[in-house]
This record gives sequence, C-alpha cells and structure tokens, in this order.
Amino acid sequence: EIIANKIAAGEVVDRPASVIKELVENSIDAKSDKITVEIKNAGKSYIRISDNGTGIHPDDVEVAFERHATSKIRKVEDLSSILSLGFRGEALASIAAVSQLELITKSKDHNVGRKVVVHGGKLISNDEVGAPGGTTILVKNLFYNVPARFEFMKSNGSETSYIIDIVSKLALAYPNISFRLINNNKVVFVTNGNGDIVNNIASIYGKDIAKNLINVEEKIDNITVKGFLCKPSVTRGNKKLQTFFVNQRYIKSKTVSDAVSDAYKTLITINRHAICFVYVEMNPNLIDINIHPAKTEIRFKDDENVKKGISYVLKKGLFSKSL
Ligand code: ADP
Ligand code: MG
Repeated sequence: EIIANKIAAGEVVDRPASVIKELVENSIDAKSDKITVEIKNAGKSYIRISDNGTGIHPDDVEVAFERHATSKIRKVEDLSSILSLGFRGEALASIAAVSQLELITKSKDHNVGRKVVVHGGKLISNDEVGAPGGTTILVKNLFYNVPARFEFMKSNGSETSYIIDIVSKLALAYPNISFRLINNNKVVFVTNGNGDIVNNIASIYGKDIAKNLINVEEKIDNITVKGFLCKPSVTRGNKKLQTFFVNQRYIKSKTVSDAVSDAYKTLITINRHAICFVYVEMNPNLIDINIHPAKTEIRFKDDENVKKGISYVLKKGLFSKSL
C-alpha cells in the first residue's frame, strides 16, 4: 500500500506547486472562505495550508489518507460535469507518502480537533487536540524519501514562481475566497474575498494593470463570457497574463486565445498578446470529457461556435468601451 501510494504520488504530485494545488482545491471543496498558503524554501521543506472550512470528522481523519478515499461521492457520468474539484481521493494519500505531513482539523459540530501525523505514508500519531474550526496541513520535506523526485525539482526561483502562479490563478478563479500567500515569512499577496475581480487583479498583479482594464459581460448561445481586457490604447504584450477560466477552472485553450486575438484585431493591427482575464461559464457537457480533468488544457465539443461566441462578446465590449 505504501509503495502504491509512492507510485501514485508521481502522477498526482510532481512538484511543490502541484501539492499546493491539490491541498488548496481540498480547502475550496470544504467551503472555506479564507485560505492561507505559506511556503519556505520554495515549498521544498515547508508548505502550510490552512483553511476555515468544514473540517474533517474525527472518525474520518485516518480514512482520508487512504487511497481512493473520497467524501465527494459521485457517479461515472459526473465526470462530464465535475462540480467539486477533487475527484480521485488520491491527493492526500499521495502527498503523505512522499513527505512528513501533519494535519490538524476540527469540524464545526465538534468541540475538539484532531492532529494526525504521517511520515512517508506511515501513521505516526492520531491525537485529540485543541484547534480552531477548519483544517491546517503542514507538508515538510517533500520527496525526502524519493530521491529521484527530489532531484527533479528545479531551482528555488523556478519552483517559487510556479507556486505563485498557481495560487494566483486559484485566487482569481475564486474571488469570493480570501487568499493569503506567504513566502519565507513575507506576504506575496492577499485578496479580500469580496468577489470583486478587478480588485483581485490589483492585489495580485498590481494597480497599474488593474486600472487599465475594460469590463465586458454578455451571455450568448448559453455561454456566459466575462472579460477584463486591457484597453487597446495601452495594451502591452504579455502572453503570461492572458488568463482564461472555464467554469471556475484555470485553463489553457487555443480556442479562447484565438477568440481574444480575433477580438483585438478589429482595434489594433499589431498582433500582441494583450493582457486579459476571460471567464467563461457553460454547460460542462459541451466540454470534451476525454480530456483529463486534472490537466489545464481543455477542448470544446463545438470549438468553432465557442470561439465565435467569445470573440463576438469581447469584440463588442472592446469596441463600445474604447471609443
Ligand atoms: P478528494 O479530494 O479527491 O476527495 P483527497 O485525497 O484530496 O481526495 O482528500 C481526501 C478526503 O479528505 C476528501 O474527500 C475530504 O473528505 C478530506 N479533506 C481533505 N482536505 C480537506 C480539507 N481541507 N477540509 C476538509 N476535508 C478535507
Ligand atoms: Mg482532493
């Protein structure tokens, strides 16, 4: 079982940023509205995620570390319309197999919390502990027992920027959750969780970017498109800041990126990657389910139509608001 978890860990977690993604998604699933991510040494020696969510029932804390243990029961057909982010019940087991992990949790209907310590997949302790409502997970010395994985990690600079990127995207996808990211005891950003996306963009990427955005929103053919687009008059190229979300998930998509280029083409002739944040909401059944849900690349069933719809909304907004 421990070996199986070590193997599975390679698929689910390949670097500190993916550990953080899985743990934050669990916090989101647990209905938290405040999530703090703290890292030291690029997450290699220290990752701490704390949330104010539902917590875990004392009887379930050990079970949560078992492979394929998930409280998020769903049927096969749910794959096409995944509502909660976790779906495999593998993350916690996999992360615990390759680190020294401590979990402290208290559910709302209990007076006392639980602290569980697991080292390299082995249960060290499970004790009662006083704790605030919610869950805190501390992951120390990631890959300490898997030298090949340990070696595979990049420099602290690279791993830290992957982490900042992933937490930024999660914060932008969930503007109603207040995120706090702390790197080596220094605050990287705090979002206020009041649902205001422009405000979030300002907190994460700075006021300079946020103040030059045009806000467009429209529903077309059952696709809701919300865009925060850099004004054509000030647009600076930055492919990294072309950020797309579909159904609250950060995604990469040539379809959406083509739609953006197409929209800007009417106003600026030079083809630059204008800074933009585009949120698309649509029926999950119209998204290709053969794409692994954990991956960021997605495909649409009716690609051309989706592209046309998004482009139409963005173009219209850009045109009317930049006059
Ligand atoms: P999955 O998310 O696919 O269910 P995980 O291995 O990520 O599987 O988590 C296992 C289980 O542990 C979850 O189903 C959930 O019940 C519980 N859990 C994990 N993290 C949290 C958290 N932050 N708050 C509440 N419950 C959690
Ligand atoms: Mg999960």
